[in-house]
Amino acid sequence: MKKFYPLGTIVTLIDGTKPLMIFGRLQIHVDSEKMYDYVACYYPEGKISNDHNVLFNDEDIGNVLYVGYQTTEDDEYQILLHEEGLHEKNNKNQKMKLDYSDITEELCQHCAECCNLYLPVTLDDRFYEYLKARGLNITRDPKDPSNGALNLGYCMHNIREGEKIRCGIYENRPRLCREYNCVAWARYADVEKKSPTLQHAIKVYNKLNS
Ligand code: SF4
Ligand code: SF4
Repeated sequence: MKKFYPLGTIVTLIDGTKPLMIFGRLQIHVDSEKMYDYVACYYPEGKISNDHNVLFNDEDIGNVLYVGYQTTEDDEYQILLHEEGLHEKNNKNQKMKLDYSDITEELCQHCAECCNLYLPVTLDDRFYEYLKARGLNITRDPKDPSNGALNLGYCMHNIREGEKIRCGIYENRPRLCREYNCVAWARYADVEKKSPTLQHAIKVYNKLNS
């Protein structure tokens, strides 16, 4: 079992000389959502602000200048870190964002999420009631009921083959399908972090690359 340095341990990193004091283990970097073995503050200054925290992994440590307080309590806590934290770390370190170039034919053939069409619609109560009565799959934006999405479901050309959902007319698919890139669209619409289509594509990407 990997042993973490105890809290209070002071180290320098391979590429630095400033002593750092460890005050947390298995910590997540907010922006990248990546998990690191340690978070530390500068020594002797101590914690200045969150902007001054330093996150690093075991392999980044150059020298250990002082080892912190070691107790049986800490040994027991380390077992918990392993059981819960390392599992979480593996999950967290999966890719959280995709790039334009990650959208490949292989990925699309396992994803097909953009072939499941949601049309944005403007709604008033009368129109909403009408669409519902027609048996259409319509959802309203709870924050703004004048907007909604009409789900037309998967395209008639989607063919399921085991884990793959391929396009049955791939060579002759419409120009819109050819030119669509979910990353580019989400960036353009400024919904990169909350686009359900893109989140689905990321999950499929991670599954294919795990
Ligand atoms: S959502 Fe993105 S990854 Fe999925 S099929 Fe569409 S373009 Fe490809
Ligand atoms: S034509 Fe092909 S790529 Fe376009 S929506 Fe239908 S299945 Fe998807």
